[in-house]
Amino acid sequence: MKALDGHKGRLAGAAGGASPGMAASGAGGRQGAGGLAGAAAQGAIGGFAAALAQKAIDLMFPPSIYCISCGNLIDATRPYSLCDACVREFKWAVGRTCEKCGRILGDGDAGTLCGACANSSHVYEKGYACLEYGSCREVIHGFKYRGRAYYAESIAQIMHDRMLAAERDFDIILPTPMYKPKERKRGYNQADLAGRIFAGKMGVSYDARLLKRIRNTGPMSGLGGEAREENIKGAFVVERGREGAIRGKRLLIVDDIYTTGSTMDACAKALLDAGAGSVCFIVLAAGAAGAS
Ligand SMILES: [Zn+2]
Ligand SMILES: [Zn+2]
Repeated sequence: MKALDGHKGRLAGAAGGASPGMAASGAGGRQGAGGLAGAAAQGAIGGFAAALAQKAIDLMFPPSIYCISCGNLIDATRPYSLCDACVREFKWAVGRTCEKCGRILGDGDAGTLCGACANSSHVYEKGYACLEYGSCREVIHGFKYRGRAYYAESIAQIMHDRMLAAERDFDIILPTPMYKPKERKRGYNQADLAGRIFAGKMGVSYDARLLKRIRNTGPMSGLGGEAREENIKGAFVVERGREGAIRGKRLLIVDDIYTTGSTMDACAKALLDAGAGSVCFIVLAAGAAGAS
């Protein structure tokens, strides 16, 4: 926890020391950009001109200077590409967390486990979450469904800072694999994008091809714990011939969200069956304790 607390301290310091000049010029820039978009939108050629104008705005104001959660303009030095308000509103895992799945514990959670972990066992060894899902939903949706692949850098940095606080060593980092046809359709596997950068920051070897997803699974949202388990069962296998690479190794899986843990358990089972020493995971966000 210390390192993350320390980082938050730095964040607060950075916020306090932000140059008012920069903030002012940033706000001015945004107004200008809005005016340009507005003029184009009202033009005779309509949508196409608006799209062109938006492209021009993106060139003038690259995405890294927008807060990745609320879209407000920020200066590019802001840690995690988040504005101060979002940093404050996000629920960071800096207090008590479930010692099994890593989600943030509420005041009502008396023990060291969340309700879900107290009532069921998991195949994986331990999980680490950085944030509570509800507070950073926009970041995850943008990253996953709206093509904001460049969020990977900020997400990897958040995961890195969280993991430093945990003071644990791993041999190999890998992403939760996506079913290939689905990945081709989306254009990227968000867990792979963030995982690759995260592993680089951690100085740990990274291998996105150890584990693969051999079938598509229906959407998990709306399914209960058991239905999720059934949905995902047998969906992951260790790549043929790669067992030697993971034998006895301490593995860390990267994903964006943790809900019931059925995906992580299915990944962990495939890896452990193939000889892995231990399997932990890190996610950007986990659902609130009590919600699943
Ligand atoms: Zn924001
Ligand atoms: Zn838990």
